[in-house]
Amino acid sequence: MSLPGVLQDSHNRVIRDLRISITDRCNFNCVYCLPETEGAGNFFKPTDTAADEPALVSGKLPYPRKPRSQILSIEEIARVAHVAASLGVNKIRITGGEPLLRRGVESLISQIAAIESIRDLSLTTNGTHFPRLAKRLKEAGLGRVTLSLDSLDRDNFRKITGRDGLAEVLKSIRLAKALGLAPVKVNAVIIRGLNDHEIVPLARFAADENVILRFIEFMPLDSRQVWRREHVVPGAEIAERIQPEFPLTPLPANNPSETSARWSLGQGGGEIGIIAPVTQPFCGNCNRLRLTADGKIRTCLFSLHEHDLKPSLRDHPGSDEALAARLRQIVPSKEPGHRISEPDFEQPARTMSLIGG
Ligand code: SAM
Ligand code: SF4
Repeated sequence: MSLPGVLQDSHNRVIRDLRISITDRCNFNCVYCLPETEGAGNFFKPTDTAADEPALVSGKLPYPRKPRSQILSIEEIARVAHVAASLGVNKIRITGGEPLLRRGVESLISQIAAIESIRDLSLTTNGTHFPRLAKRLKEAGLGRVTLSLDSLDRDNFRKITGRDGLAEVLKSIRLAKALGLAPVKVNAVIIRGLNDHEIVPLARFAADENVILRFIEFMPLDSRQVWRREHVVPGAEIAERIQPEFPLTPLPANNPSETSARWSLGQGGGEIGIIAPVTQPFCGNCNRLRLTADGKIRTCLFSLHEHDLKPSLRDHPGSDEALAARLRQIVPSKEPGHRISEPDFEQPARTMSLIGG
């Protein structure tokens, strides 16, 4: 039975969570996301099948960034947030690209924070611009923050992200805690042969710093499209590797659509999460929609089709009804799940940096 006034898909899932990418630009080149540097791209060349690998084309993305005129304005993004909230969305995450590169991000946060029905407003960032903006973001009404940290080793951090930024990110994590942007979550994408030897140190970091460290399986959303299953460290293996050091105890999910399996690290305190979309898909409970910086709604991270909201926003600037109708029209087409493990899986052209994680 479909519920009136909410966004419900054809698999009876009600959309409550909107992830908004506010820019397609980034100042990092993470190997699993945007490896535009040759060194980063080459990391993935398997030695045994090197001859079959596509040639690396320096500086060329399979999906080019959009001109400014096609990027939604802060006002347009806020309007989508308002209309989505009127249709039952109560959780919004601001992401990118690197969202803190976007001018006006504080204004957007304050406009969304003012929507009464939004009970969870968060932001995901690589942390480089966070020290400069953190206080203003908090004052604007940001509820909590997630920072990305894939390595605690300066050289490995640089290898993964293309930037010597470990100290900045550590500073940002501590600042987020000091400002009470809690719970502070830290995302680490684990890739075999690159940072899997840091799983236990990262878990220890969670205990020592009292942050929630979320280990994420590498997904096929990288710009070079060189993802291979052998690079994925399954969530079960991540837990097995931590178990001898910390007696992991499962924690209850905060809500049924939570992507992360939560574990307590035992007596010393601390919590980790394991997000295993490749080996343990959680699509059945997915309540998320994504809005890209250029105004496309994506009903799944792995959608091969997307829906342009710009005509509804720009051709009907005064009518929220047209926008609401468009969202209602789009949502039923939400895919039942991703097909990463199916033989006919096709990686979307957009990278994670262009979708928003
Ligand atoms: N630039 C910000 C950052 O890195 O925190 C926000 C955008 S980034 C796309 C959001 C999250 O997606 C990051 O935590 C990143 O680690 C994760 N991510 C990017 N590419 C991924 C991939 N191929 N597989 C799994 N997670 C990925
Ligand atoms: Fe890395 Fe985030 Fe930039 Fe992707 S968008 S390259 S994950 S910092």
